[in-house]
Amino acid sequence: MKTFHCNHCSHLVFYENVRCERCESLLGYVPELAEISAFEDAGEGHWRSLHPAADGALFRQCHNYAVENVCNWMIPADSPDALCRACQLTRTIPNLSAPDNRLYWYRLEMAKRRLLYTLAELGLDVKSRQTDPEYGLAFEFLEDGGDGAHVMTGHDNGLITLNIAEADDAHREEVRTAMGEPYRTLLGHFRHETGHYYFSQLVENNPRWLEPYRKLFGDESVDYGEALNAYYRDGAPADWQSSFISAYATMHPWEDWAETWAHYMLIVDVLDTSTSYGVALLPDDPSEPTLTDRTPVEDASFENLMKRWFPLTYALNSLNRSLGMADGYPFTLAAPVVDKLRFVHRVIAEAGDKSRPREAATPAGETAPPGHAAQAAGVAQAGSPAPLPPPAQATANDAPVTPAEPPAPPVAAQAAPSSADVAAAQPQPPAPPVVAPASATEPAGAPAKPTPPATGTAPVPQSQ
Ligand SMILES: [Zn+2]
Ligand SMILES: [Zn+2]
Ligand SMILES: [Zn+2]
Repeated sequence: MKTFHCNHCSHLVFYENVRCERCESLLGYVPELAEISAFEDAGEGHWRSLHPAADGALFRQCHNYAVENVCNWMIPADSPDALCRACQLTRTIPNLSAPDNRLYWYRLEMAKRRLLYTLAELGLDVKSRQTDPEYGLAFEFLEDGGDGAHVMTGHDNGLITLNIAEADDAHREEVRTAMGEPYRTLLGHFRHETGHYYFSQLVENNPRWLEPYRKLFGDESVDYGEALNAYYRDGAPADWQSSFISAYATMHPWEDWAETWAHYMLIVDVLDTSTSYGVALLPDDPSEPTLTDRTPVEDASFENLMKRWFPLTYALNSLNRSLGMADGYPFTLAAPVVDKLRFVHRVIAEAGDKSRPREAATPAGETAPPGHAAQAAGVAQAGSPAPLPPPAQATANDAPVTPAEPPAPPVAAQAAPSSADVAAAQPQPPAPPVVAPASATEPAGAPAKPTPPATGTAPVPQSQ
């Protein structure tokens, strides 16, 4: 992700910030510009953007920003929408009368907005369920029912369900440890599940991609239920690291794709952030990992991405170890995994916005079928012409959706060349206080926290 600055005082700010920590200007994300902007109050709920690219345009805060404190996106002042295009994608929010659910909702929306940023940067079309009832994307944030019904995080034909317990750090860490996973994050869940969605959008019905996909990932027509049972029964093959990015990826070719897709998005986002901050690696010994290339990730070839990625992960993990933390990147990329990542890169490059420069997406000797690029290209809709209703609020009695994806069964922790396994066995310390030294280049502290939940009261979305 690129860096953002307050347009009022030039202070470096985060994507999640709602106020400049230095000058206290209101901040908001303007998806049309892909920029965080500072705003000045223009009265009557309108805010004038101070971003040079906005030309003084007026905006409103998303309802979930102004009222619910779980969003920081802005809407053009003349838009009929109450919800920003990110919040429009959420069909069901948690029951806010339950303690902590507003915090979980905030964390889920925050991760979702990070996902949307990367999808937009890659030029991938994000159609909402409301604008495209058949192929659009929608999210439901549900919690386990009081009757023991379990909500499975998963994807079903564009509908992505997240169990809000995944937004509880203690719970997620407990699951991660129990499953022997080196890495489990909310953002990773969003990336993985959208991988399933884009598989159906870009690969499943595209004869040009389907056969190469099967060569790399296997035959996805094999029975998912049987594969699932076998995985639960036997776990991952002992040598899974020689051809898969994760143990879970061994379960079924669909999961291998989703895990690989999620990993590609991770690489692109981290490289983008590091490039935006001007991170370079210049060791005294040039044979050690070196990184000076600053090609924008959206313009970079796959080989360029990989060439830059490996040095960065050495530095990243070393920094984390100095922090006393587990490796930030507890993965190894075997050659077959790199081949799968390259395939994901090609699919995305072809589907992405053709208006921007990028490498030739078509593999040598192949031509894209007519119509496919046009179908996949395009940018996110600015919103439907009519005001959108607020998302439904889930109650504890909501029936869980059809299990689309069970959690990974426990697998024996592999001997990975990282400290993740060791770290996973250690209790997690409470988050330290953020003590940011005063500096002109220091980011503006931690993202704003949502207001405490109003216990026992349901939120009342503004009438739209
Ligand atoms: Zn400022
Ligand atoms: Zn919003
Ligand atoms: Zn999956």
